[in-house]
Amino acid sequence: MGLFLKIFIPLLGLVLAFYFYSAPENFNEEMLRGKRVIVTGASSGIGEQMAYHLARMETHLLLTARTEAKLQKVVERCLELGAASARYVSGSMEDTTFPEVLVKEAENTWGGLDMLILNHIGHSYFTYFNGDVGHVRKLLETNFLSYVATTVSALPMLKESEGSIVVVSSIAGKASSPFIAPYAATKFALDGFFSSLRHEFIIDKVNVSITLCILGYINTESAVRTVSHAIHDTPAPKEECALEIIKSGALRRRELHYPARVVGSTLLLRDIAPEFLDSLIRSNYKLENIKRT
Ligand code: NAP
Repeated sequence: MGLFLKIFIPLLGLVLAFYFYSAPENFNEEMLRGKRVIVTGASSGIGEQMAYHLARMETHLLLTARTEAKLQKVVERCLELGAASARYVSGSMEDTTFPEVLVKEAENTWGGLDMLILNHIGHSYFTYFNGDVGHVRKLLETNFLSYVATTVSALPMLKESEGSIVVVSSIAGKASSPFIAPYAATKFALDGFFSSLRHEFIIDKVNVSITLCILGYINTESAVRTVSHAIHDTPAPKEECALEIIKSGALRRRELHYPARVVGSTLLLRDIAPEFLDSLIRSNYKLENIKRT
């Protein structure tokens, strides 16, 4: 079994990486110069790194998260890096009125919008599900419903510019794993909603792209703090991850799988050998380090 895994999984990954990345790519940073972009969850982690890449590409940026002090610093750095302009609006996506406030800010400042990057997540626990329905409800509001509400508010401007929606999701929203039931539910919901909406846009000839980003384990401070004691994997770099998300959005790709090998092989196994994948996933945890609450 060990030898099988050592040979089969990397081979599978290579085939998939070739499949997904063999199409000619022509990303050019010029594609984003002068574009008006909203990034949510931009005060730390992948969102912060996306803001820095976009600043280097000379975009106009509107950043958001809850912590004003962090956003101020990110905006300052973006201006140093060459952003055409950079501002922020702070607020919580738990507040159902906030998505409209955010989009209004873009409308008042720019009179339009080219790219909406939905990336924020609320705090979630990494443990056995303890029956806390209130937590699931709150997380659905922050991680899912606010994505829908922001999209609804931004859609008139995105239709006008024939722009892009980028939805940052997770492998946890494609293949199930333990200890993250509420989080996984919100990420599966994003796939259901936005993949359905993509069909409707195509049927209605609405030229707004939707890119769903399926990410594996990335080395952001919060992810490492939450899971490093409990899993065996090595995280991928947040800077590269952020750039791949931006490229996929600019190229109007349907989905990003990052890191390609890990995500690609997981999805293939999910479809051809789901029980085998489940047992592989379970074997990846240091169960003795997972506390019940
Ligand atoms: P992170 O570092 O924890 O950043 C989360 C961002 O969301 C922060 O800017 C945070 O800022 C903001 N936020 C938190 N609660 C909020 C609220 N109630 N309202 C508005 N904003 C809020 O996360 P990350 O690791 O970069 O993850 C970014 C995205 O990648 C997420 O969608 C995540 O699911 C996805 N992803 C990450 C990994 C990974 O291993 N890192 C793996 C798969 C998928 P404030 O606290 O200032 O509000």
